[in-house]
Amino acid sequence: TNGAHTGSWLARRMRVLFERSLGPDWHEQLDDPETWESLLSIPDEDLWAVHRHLKRQLQIFMNDRVRAQWVTTRIHPVQIIAAGALMDPNVLTIGFARRFATYKRAGLLFRNTERLLKLVNREDMPVQFVFAGKAHPADDPGKKVIQELYRTVKRAEFAGRLIFIEDYDQNVARHLVQGVDVWLNTPRRPHEASGTSGQKAAINGVLNCSILDGWWPEGYNGKNGWAIGDEQDRALEEEQDAFDAESLFTLLENEIVPLYYKRDEKDLPREWIRMMKESIATLAPSFSARRMVKDYVNQMYVPAIRAALVNT
Ligand SMILES: *Cc1c(COP(=O)(O)O)cnc(C)c1O
Repeated sequence: TNGAHTGSWLARRMRVLFERSLGPDWHEQLDDPETWESLLSIPDEDLWAVHRHLKRQLQIFMNDRVRAQWVTTRIHPVQIIAAGALMDPNVLTIGFARRFATYKRAGLLFRNTERLLKLVNREDMPVQFVFAGKAHPADDPGKKVIQELYRTVKRAEFAGRLIFIEDYDQNVARHLVQGVDVWLNTPRRPHEASGTSGQKAAINGVLNCSILDGWWPEGYNGKNGWAIGDEQDRALEEEQDAFDAESLFTLLENEIVPLYYKRDEKDLPREWIRMMKESIATLAPSFSARRMVKDYVNQMYVPAIRAALVNT
């Protein structure tokens, strides 16, 4: 299974925080699960403060981009809102960014726009979604998914709580995997090879909510994020999509949203923060590029070289 390159994807502030509890050499042993045990000693306040900072950074990033677009091309005000001008850093924020290949099912939540409308606009517990991604130039169905999604994003009833960031690239990806609260992954099983963006999110304390496909059946332990649906495959695509959409909405409404807004007297979501720590500690070592490259060396390259030497 793939791994994400920790040095490239971990936010600087998060790295500084990790260094304090894991020690200065932690990155030399970052593929060792034991290294991460002391992560639990990071004070909740400190982890939450860094997370909130990164969320603000995402807001600033989106605002700066959209301001530049307004100045240079005079885009329509509705497009400014769709690009995140009304983003609220106090609202639970769910990120979804990847290639818009149809198997990734970016439109899963849009199967039921009434229910989505209720979800984002719950007065005491609102939710915002940030989407980003491109379709392959030859992938017309993928482009159609983006067009339909963007049409919904622009609807006024969604109150600026659906956001689409254009020109998805590594810089957009970096801000998103560091600055949202939840990383959403909805592929149609068994098409996802890995889902590497979820690993980038995990090291930054962003919680994964994913179909059990690609890396997630290996990474998910019941306490370090959420699983959408189950591991059974239904005969018809339509049946599968309906089942997974229902499961996702139920998960969001009954578990994810209430947990995020469950605060103590210091306004800290203690149980959420505990999950963040569990997620970082369990996923960072196993899904690091360091572990991945070691696997390649030990399981592939060294045996291949040995075999070649025997044959000469
Ligand atoms: C990480 C990354 C990907 C791959 O993400 P998946 O979750 O595997 O789809 C694609 N594009 C960019 C820009 C990325 O940073």
